[in-house]
Amino acid sequence: MNDNTIDTKGRERLLARLLAGEFPDQQGRYGPFGGRYVPETLVSAHERLEAGVARWLADADFQRELQQELSTWVGRPTALSHAPRLSQRWGADVWLKREDLAHTGAHKINNALGQALLARRLGARRIVAETGAGQHGVASAAACARLGLPCTVYMGAVDMERQAPNVGRMRLLGATVVSVTGGDQTLRAAIDEAMRDWVADPEGTYYLLGSAVGAHPYPYLVRELQSVIGREARTQIRAQSGALPDLVIACVGGGSNAIGLFHPFVNDQSVAILGIEAGGRGAGLGDNAAPLSFGRPGVLHGSYSMLLQDGDGQIQETHSVSAGLDYPGVGPEHALLQACGRVSYEAASDADALAAVRECCECEGILPAIESAHALAGARRWARSHPGKRILIGLSGRGDKDMLTLTQMLLAKAPTGAA
Ligand SMILES: *Cc1c(COP(=O)(O)O)cnc(C)c1O
Repeated sequence: MNDNTIDTKGRERLLARLLAGEFPDQQGRYGPFGGRYVPETLVSAHERLEAGVARWLADADFQRELQQELSTWVGRPTALSHAPRLSQRWGADVWLKREDLAHTGAHKINNALGQALLARRLGARRIVAETGAGQHGVASAAACARLGLPCTVYMGAVDMERQAPNVGRMRLLGATVVSVTGGDQTLRAAIDEAMRDWVADPEGTYYLLGSAVGAHPYPYLVRELQSVIGREARTQIRAQSGALPDLVIACVGGGSNAIGLFHPFVNDQSVAILGIEAGGRGAGLGDNAAPLSFGRPGVLHGSYSMLLQDGDGQIQETHSVSAGLDYPGVGPEHALLQACGRVSYEAASDADALAAVRECCECEGILPAIESAHALAGARRWARSHPGKRILIGLSGRGDKDMLTLTQMLLAKAPTGAA
């Protein structure tokens, strides 16, 4: 932990409160992290959302509708696949939770669908969303089309160019994609712009946030909607292997797929948990997107959490080969899980993630997203120092969207299958 204000005693107290299920607290805090740091104009919108979340997530009819859509439209439960050839190579017992098989190709649809259903219950007439790589935009556009809600997606101008196929996908699915030319012209600016839209009409508009970040209640709401991953995986691995895993591991961008997989295992004391951030080119300023590994606490997008910033508190540029992990902040619950010692976080480099894409393709016949391959790389490293253990890996999405990058970085350099 880079925040040396939490001593051993404080850490133990936080862990006890975590295991007692006390987070988030009434203020939306996860120990020292989280909360709601928003301008006055957005306070009542967040309060209304908080009340709506409390009401509808506990409503049996809402849950029935959500389950029905998850099973008949998203394709849940997603499979848990044993990975026999990776197991043999790594000297471990490897299992893959297959979010790549969910509709639109990743875990993001669990959250987009759940929030779109919530928005309809709250009487919203339109949805706004932000997107970086375009995956959350595609999931939001699909969920809104399914429910007949108009959808506007804000996307940085730079990202629109880099992720042109996803822009087309969103438009086909009926969304209006708005190019954001201010700020850094990427995800950070797109979030600011979506917030501005929401402020203009906080009752008629619903802001569909794409990860376990932002002000309370978003990190909690997204965790609840993504925890279906961990609940399914926990049941499946016990049924298929006869026991709980020794390690649960997932990649961490904003942290939604990871918190969804981790949450149902937090109270299983025999289970180690490991989050893998984007290590990029290395530990230097601007070379990675790993705030838990290299950042310091600060406020971004309404929440106090670990953050990549310079000595003056300026947000740093980030780098990752994987667009979906390229964000300078991380959800506040991960900052807590790290601070109290329940979950460890490490970084995997661009090169290790790319190698893991290839290994997973060749050994298991599965093309993982480059994001997900960070978890594979981290698992492979852990297996070397923990021989013979059972490892559950969150495979957050499929890699078809990454073919341009993979063609340039893997196929052009070292053709495989020859010789
Ligand atoms: C967006 C994305 C991620 C990163 O987002 P989290 O909120 O950290 O889960 C990871 N994997 C895939 C496939 C994604 O599309």
